[in-house]
Amino acid sequence: MDGIRLSSLSPHQLGELSDFIGKYGLDIELGEEKTANFLLRLWNAEEEKRKHGEKYSRKMLKDAESLILSMNSQASGQAAEKRTQIGPAQVPGIMRGMRPHDVPREVESMERKPKTGEEALRLLMKGNKNFVEGKMTQYDVVKRRKELLEGQQPFAAIVCCSDSRVEPVITFDANIGEIFVAKGAGNVLDSVGLGTIEYGVEHLKVPLLMILAHEKCGAVTACCKGGGNEGHVRDIMEKIRPSVIPGNVEASADANAKAVKSYILQNCDVLRRLVEERKLMVVVAKYHLESGKVTMLE
Ligand SMILES: [Zn+2]
Repeated sequence: MDGIRLSSLSPHQLGELSDFIGKYGLDIELGEEKTANFLLRLWNAEEEKRKHGEKYSRKMLKDAESLILSMNSQASGQAAEKRTQIGPAQVPGIMRGMRPHDVPREVESMERKPKTGEEALRLLMKGNKNFVEGKMTQYDVVKRRKELLEGQQPFAAIVCCSDSRVEPVITFDANIGEIFVAKGAGNVLDSVGLGTIEYGVEHLKVPLLMILAHEKCGAVTACCKGGGNEGHVRDIMEKIRPSVIPGNVEASADANAKAVKSYILQNCDVLRRLVEERKLMVVVAKYHLESGKVTMLE
């Protein structure tokens, strides 16, 4: 027999296939009817070849073929059923026959580790472009969640507003474990917030810190109107008030975010030292609600 039937594989064999797929960060659920899906991912290897060179794709295909061969021999002898079959010889031909628009958007590798703030910022902005265009990456979050049991190594720390429309991991098309987020209304920080950022940046060795303002911020708007003076909200208003530019909510929000950057660098010796040693890059940016775009302010 030249092919395999997913339906005839044992749970162990399905596990092997699943591991192979997971090894490349591919997002596929195994099932009897999912063969085409699996092949689409193999086709994706051809796309990867164009992007990353021959070697990567060949290795991927070789792994696929040897796994298929081994499963084929284990599966042979079981009752034949009329199902889609995959054989190593068929793989390249099938892959050639697939059209680009059949293929799901590229699946990112499991771990991204930019070494510098500049690289980290490039990754974030590339992710934001995906978000703006609605071309989000299909991350294998289940596999990544398990990998992250060993510890987190985020590559960016972000201070942003608690506003439910502002969600950095989604806005920057990131995976779990990639962005360390400190959220608070009006993206202002108190000593606990500073401690959070210190921990994220120094302890986790994050090369990029972003203060992310956003359009139509309720906290900044309230402060501009002189409201929000009840209860603990007053503490937030006091933080924002020095940045208020009368009659201009958006300019106030921008000024507020820049003030948060200054506040961090004035009050965190350890972060200031990291910036001086060029181990940390601190930027200020703004999220635009309608377009989804993040633009740089500073
Ligand atoms: Zn806000």
